[in-house]
Amino acid sequence: MNPNLNSIPSEEYKPLDNQLSLDDLQSQNYISSNPVTPQPENKKGIKKYLPYVCLVCLICSLFGNINLYYSNTILKKQYEQARSTANINQYWYDVGQKHYMELLERKIELEKEYNFYHDNAVIVTENGSRYHRYGCSHTFGRTYWIYNIENAQYQGYTPCKDCWN
Ligand SMILES: [Zn+2]
Repeated sequence: MNPNLNSIPSEEYKPLDNQLSLDDLQSQNYISSNPVTPQPENKKGIKKYLPYVCLVCLICSLFGNINLYYSNTILKKQYEQARSTANINQYWYDVGQKHYMELLERKIELEKEYNFYHDNAVIVTENGSRYHRYGCSHTFGRTYWIYNIENAQYQGYTPCKDCWN
């Protein structure tokens, strides 16, 4: 309220005939007792469309969440299938690994046996005077015996020049 108007005693203040008093202005809502600050037009526009913007955001969020839910469901199924396949593969890998270890042990045993016969066993043929290694061409198609080297040498056999050099 204007302090100048308040400072004038009411009996001294008499409006002119064509002049409205402060009470008249207030009663006719020309002056509001609670002044409202005027807002720019663009702020009013934002307030007007704000619910629609929120609704659009809500719908987008809803569809996004539904999409994520289905994607998650599909990924879960794929994960379960992959895990099942991995378990099967792991089982066959373990079986193969066990079989491989058994074969490796068998190979080591066979290598020992091979080395023993390779180092000690020789082949002598009927009517021959030489002793031979396995696979020598002089033993093909002939009657043969297998001796150890000491026995062959004791019986007078000498090493074959083709397979012992
Ligand atoms: Zn030979």
